[in-house]
Amino acid sequence: MTLSEPNGMSRIPVAVLGATGAVGQTFIRLLADHPWFTVAEVAASERSAGKTYRDAVQWLEGDLPADVARLTVRVCDPGEIQARVVFSALDSSVAGDIEAAFAQSGAMVLSNAKNFRMAADVPLVIPEVNAAHLALLSVQRAARGWPTGGGIVTNANCAATVAAMALAPLHEAFGVRRVFVVTLQAVSGAGYPGVPSLDALGNVIPYIADEEPKLERELNKMLGRFDGRAITPAPFAVSAQVNRVAVEHGHLTCLAVELTQAAPMDEIAGALQSWSGDPVACGLPSSPARPLAVTTQPDRPQSRRDVGAGRGMTVTVGRLRPDPLFHVKYVALGHNTIRGAAGGSILNAEVLVRQGVIRA
Ligand code: NAP
Repeated sequence: MTLSEPNGMSRIPVAVLGATGAVGQTFIRLLADHPWFTVAEVAASERSAGKTYRDAVQWLEGDLPADVARLTVRVCDPGEIQARVVFSALDSSVAGDIEAAFAQSGAMVLSNAKNFRMAADVPLVIPEVNAAHLALLSVQRAARGWPTGGGIVTNANCAATVAAMALAPLHEAFGVRRVFVVTLQAVSGAGYPGVPSLDALGNVIPYIADEEPKLERELNKMLGRFDGRAITPAPFAVSAQVNRVAVEHGHLTCLAVELTQAAPMDEIAGALQSWSGDPVACGLPSSPARPLAVTTQPDRPQSRRDVGAGRGMTVTVGRLRPDPLFHVKYVALGHNTIRGAAGGSILNAEVLVRQGVIRA
C-alpha cells in the first residue's frame, strides 16, 4: 500500500456538515490547527444557513476558532460546497440523502450518522480495530457508480465504539462468544440541546431510543472478517442495556464476556495491556499514544477523571475480574463526542490520507 502523508504541503480544505451541533462543534475544535486539514466550509440546516458561524452556533466549549467564526454557514447541498473531504455530523433524519448526494458528487464523506453504518458496502471503522475494512470503498464505488474520490466511511455509535475497542484485543487473542454490556451514557451523546435538564439532572433514564440494537449489530460488523469483497460479521451474540446518566461527556460500558477459548486472567490482562491496534493507525496527528489504557485502580475508570485520556482518543479499561457467569468482566470508558464521533472520523480521514485515498 502506498503511504503518502502530507509533508510541508498546503492543508486539505474540508467541510463540516451539521457544524452547529454537539459533534459538529467538536469537529471544529479538533480541526483547529490540524496539520493536514483546514475547515474551509461549514453547513447546517436552513435555520442556520446564511448566518456567520459565530451567529448560528451556540458554542459550547473552549474558544471558537476565529477563522471559522467568520465563515458563512451553507446549506448541505453539494452544489454549495467546494471541499472534496466532508465530515458529517448531521442528524440521522437528513444524513442519508445528503451524504449520498455528496458521495455521488465525488466527495469523500466521513459520517457519524447511523444511516449507512450497516450497509454491506460501507466501511464502519475504528482504525485500530478494522482499518482493513476501508478497502470496501472500491466495492462501494463500483456498486453505486460513484466517481473516483466519492464514497462514504462511517464510524460507529459512540457506545459501540468504546465497547468495540475494549473487545477487540480479546476477540483477536481468544475469540469472543457472548457479550453482555450495560452502558452509562453522558448527556452530550444526545446532541445539543439534547435531554431536557429536568429529565437529566439527578436522574438515570434506562432508555435511549434505538441504541441497544446499534450495539447489538455494530460490534459484530466491526469485529467481522473482510475477505476483500465483503464483511462476514463476527459470530458472537451481544445483549445490551443502555442508560442515560447525568454526566457531561463519556460513555461508560460494563462488559461481561464469554471467550471462545478460555484463558487465565493474567493472559486476558496481558492481551488488553499490550494491544496497540493496527499499525496503520499509529503515529497519525489524532492517534493517541495508546488506544487503550488499562488501570488497576479499584475505582477507575471514572467519567470525570478519565474521559480526557489521550486527548479524548484513549479508551480506559479497568475493574478487570473473573465473571461467575461468563469468563471475564470489566469496565471501559471513552469520550463520546471525540473518540466516539468527531475524533474517530478525523482519524479515519487521516488513515485515508496515509493510504493515498484522500489526496492533497
Ligand atoms: P445535534 O447536536 O442535534 O446536531 C445536529 C446537526 O444537524 C446540527 O448542526 C443541525 O443544524 C443539523 N441539522 C438538523 N436538521 C438538518 C437539516 N434538515 N438539514 C441540514 N442540517 C440539519 O446532534 P449531534 O449529537 O451533534 O449528532 C450528530 C450526528 O452524530 C447524529 O447523527 C448522531 O446520531 C451522531 N453521533 C452523535 C454522538 C454524540 O456523542 N453526540 C456520537 C456519535 C454519533 P442546525 O443547528 O442548523 O439545526
